[in-house]
Amino acid sequence: MPRILLIEDETAIADTVLYALSTEGFEAQHVTLGSAGLQALRATSFDLVVLDVGLPDASGFEICRQLRTFSDMPVIFLTARAGEIDRVVGLEIGADDYLTKPFSPRELVARIRVILRRTARQNNGVGEQAAPNLFHVDEEKARISHGQQPLDLTRYEFLLFKTLLAQPERVFSREQLMQQVWTAPDHSLERTVDTHIKTLRAKIKAGGAPDPIRTHRGIGYSFSFKP
Ligand code: CA
Repeated sequence: MPRILLIEDETAIADTVLYALSTEGFEAQHVTLGSAGLQALRATSFDLVVLDVGLPDASGFEICRQLRTFSDMPVIFLTARAGEIDRVVGLEIGADDYLTKPFSPRELVARIRVILRRTARQNNGVGEQAAPNLFHVDEEKARISHGQQPLDLTRYEFLLFKTLLAQPERVFSREQLMQQVWTAPDHSLERTVDTHIKTLRAKIKAGGAPDPIRTHRGIGYSFSFKP
């Protein structure tokens, strides 16, 4: 259930929004002050914030600016005057959307859904936010490139790296790598994996890329986007 924080001092508006959110399957928390909102945002995780621009203790812009120092959570502004929001754009404050009062709660829910779908997609795209995967596997040419630069790999190094790349962050045991890569594993030792990982690493580094292969002591190896 997506969790929404509503920061809004007008209770009439807050009530209709909270009602709409609960009937649409959202879990909502409501505070009337910006300071209480920031406190809640630091204490628990939410999926999205609906933030009134005109709050009694601070402007919604200021609250958003403070939020951005510790979170990139999506923000929808509620504003009394359309003119207010130009400032948001001007300040590049990092809002995802805004609604001008009066608005229909249904419209707000629809906008929330759009943003949550977008963030879910971004989070599912592996490494899309951390670092892009610069390694490209060309199956037909049995070649892996870093950017535009093909790595000069042997057949086993290619197969080994291809296996790791296919499932980022997954830790493979040497045994699993043996089975995936070496078609006749009986004549090889697990040490063979280590040897090939070593030469593979050297070639990736020689190609100018930071070493993306993690050693998991006593277990095996993984490919990671994280530096
Ligand atoms: Ca207000």
